[in-house]
Amino acid sequence: MWKNIIIHPEKCTGCHLCELYCSFHHFKINNPSRSRIHVIRSEPYIDSPILCIQCGLCIDFCPVGAIIRNKKNGAINVLIDKCIGCAQCVFVCPYGAATIDPITKKALICDLCNGEPECVKNCPEKVLEYVDATKAVYYKNLIISKLLKKESIPLEPYPK
Ligand code: SF4
Ligand code: SF4
Repeated sequence: MWKNIIIHPEKCTGCHLCELYCSFHHFKINNPSRSRIHVIRSEPYIDSPILCIQCGLCIDFCPVGAIIRNKKNGAINVLIDKCIGCAQCVFVCPYGAATIDPITKKALICDLCNGEPECVKNCPEKVLEYVDATKAVYYKNLIISKLLKKESIPLEPYPK
């Protein structure tokens, strides 16, 4: 069965190790700007990793067919040789999970590390879990229902 990464944001300490393991796995460099997972601090509320939920919306919007779904594990895969760096995937992603690599100028989207996500394996606080899609849906529902109950949180200015 295909699996999803789910997040337990209340456990996150903001150490950013997941970002470092991600960039090292893909590029052999510790550089958060080249990571496919991003830890966001929302003062004074919470640190939380943000990452692709593999919804596949961006597949349809890529003008050159550079985004595909890996049939083996369900992951979104960017075909680097095809990607023209137009950032349409960045534009349509509702989660802010797609970015453009500052070095290659191509799309960066979580590929689930071919079914063995490094961020999940290496988070010291077990914030991330890689679970069957049927279990993941329960957590997704839970998070949305909690968000709906919360009072609206004012947006902060874009960081300089
Ligand atoms: S940046 Fe690359 S992957 Fe994203 S939409 Fe453009 S061509 Fe497709
Ligand atoms: S990058 Fe965004 S739009 Fe594309 S599959 Fe991931 S969450 Fe969906």
